[in-house]
Amino acid sequence: MTVLRSIPSVDRLVATVEARASTSGLPRALLVDAARAELDGLRKTLRANEADARGVTLDALVAAVEARLIDTLAPSLRPVINASGVIIQTNLGRAPLSVDARAAMAAVGGGYSNLEYDLERGERGSRNSHLSQLLRDLTGAEDALVVNNNAAALYLALIALAVGREVIVSRGQAVEIGGGFRIPDVLRQSGATLVEVGTTNRTYASDYAAAINERTALLLRVHTSNFRLTGFVHETSLAEMADVGRAHNVAVLDDLGSGTLLPTAPYGLTPEPTVQESVAAGADLVTFSGDKLLGGPQAGLIVGRAALIAQLKRHPLMRALRVDKTTIAGLTATLQSYRRGMALAEIPVWQMITAPADAVRARCERLAVRLMSAGIVAEVSVCESAVGGGSLPGDTLASYALALAVDSPDALARRLRLGQPPVVARISEQRLLCDLRTVLQDQDDTLVEAICRAQ
Ligand SMILES: *Cc1c(COP(=O)(O)O)cnc(C)c1O
Repeated sequence: MTVLRSIPSVDRLVATVEARASTSGLPRALLVDAARAELDGLRKTLRANEADARGVTLDALVAAVEARLIDTLAPSLRPVINASGVIIQTNLGRAPLSVDARAAMAAVGGGYSNLEYDLERGERGSRNSHLSQLLRDLTGAEDALVVNNNAAALYLALIALAVGREVIVSRGQAVEIGGGFRIPDVLRQSGATLVEVGTTNRTYASDYAAAINERTALLLRVHTSNFRLTGFVHETSLAEMADVGRAHNVAVLDDLGSGTLLPTAPYGLTPEPTVQESVAAGADLVTFSGDKLLGGPQAGLIVGRAALIAQLKRHPLMRALRVDKTTIAGLTATLQSYRRGMALAEIPVWQMITAPADAVRARCERLAVRLMSAGIVAEVSVCESAVGGGSLPGDTLASYALALAVDSPDALARRLRLGQPPVVARISEQRLLCDLRTVLQDQDDTLVEAICRAQ
C-alpha cells in the first residue's frame, strides 16, 4: 500500500484492474473508460489541492474503478420501496403488479406466443382479440381496444373520429391532467377544433345542445380527476350528455382518466365513477388507464360501441400505439382477478386501499421493535395516505408510519433515497415518516435493513 508519488498511466491502471477476478470477461474498452474517468477525477482533485494526493494508492484507484464499473453496469431503472404513502405515484411507476400479472408477463415475454396467431385456424390472428371479450364481460360494452396509455387512447379517438371537426367540451373540463398533458393541446394536436361551452363552474345539457352543428364530431367529457370544484357548481351528467348526443346523432366520449371497475365508496373514499357506470349511462366510448386504479401495466383501454371501436382499429395510427405482448399478458391476468371476484385480494393497489389502519399499525409496531433492537428509536405515528394517480383528490386513508426523529430529516431522506434499494419516504413536522400502507408486504425486512444502513 505505497502512496503514489505520481499518477499511473491509463494502461498501467487498466492492466491492474484487468487482473482482478471482478472484471473477468468485461470488454477492455469499458475498463479503459472507467480508468480514464477515475484518473481525470484524480487530476482535478490534485489541481485543486496538491495535498489530497498523499493518501492515494494504486489499490485505492483500482477499488474506485471497480466501484465505477458496478455503477456503470447497474440499470438506471430499479425497484424502490415506496414509503411515501401515495399508492399510485406516477414518478414511482404507478401500480405495482399482481403476482399473476408478473407471472403472465414473464411467461409470455420469455418465449413465443400466439400474439397475432389464431391457433384454431393456423393463420394470422389479432392482438386485440385476447382482451376484447374479457373487457366486454367486465364493462358491458360492445367492444374494446387497448393502446399504450390513456393519453394515446384519447388521441387515437380524436384523430380517428374528429379530425377537421369540432369537439364540444365543458369549460370546466378543459384541464391539465399532469405532466403538461392538457386537453386543449391534445385536441389541437389531433387536428380537432375545441369548442368550449358553459362556464368554469356550471355547464348544462342545453349548453352542449346549443353548440352542436354539422361540424360537430364528439361531445367530450373529461373526468376532472386531479382537482375538485365545490360550491356553486353544476356538471352535466354523462346520461344527460348521452341524451343530447343521441338526439343530435353525435357520439359521446368519456375520458375517465383513472377509471375503476370497483366502487371506491365502500372504503371511505369519494365515489369515483366506474367504467361500467359510464357504459350504462350511454357513453359511446370510454377511455381509462391500465396502471391507475385498475392496478395493471401501463395501457390505455377504450371500451364502447362496436362501430366506433372498429373505426379506431382501422386507423393507421393504431400501428404506432399498439401494445406489447407482455402488456397484454399482464393486463389479461389483472382483469381476470376482477372476473374471478378476487381483485381486492390479489391486486396490490386494492390491497393497499383496503388494508385496515389497524393492520398497518400492527406492522409499524413490529418494525419499530426490530429497529429498537438495532438501537434506532422509531415512533409509531398516525398519518394519512393518499390514493394518487390523478384520482380522488383530497381523499385520504387513515394510516400509520414509522416516524424517525433526527437532526436532519432531509439528510436522512437523501441517504434512504441513495441506498440500495432506494427508499422514498416523506417528511412531516421535522420527522421522517415511512408510511407502511404503500410498502409491499414482503418488503418489511428490506425496509428495516435500509433504515439501519441509512442512520
Ligand atoms: C391520467 C389521465 C390521463 C392520461 O392517462 P395516461 O395513462 O397517463 O396516459 C388522461 N385523462 C385523465 C382524465 C387522466 O386522469
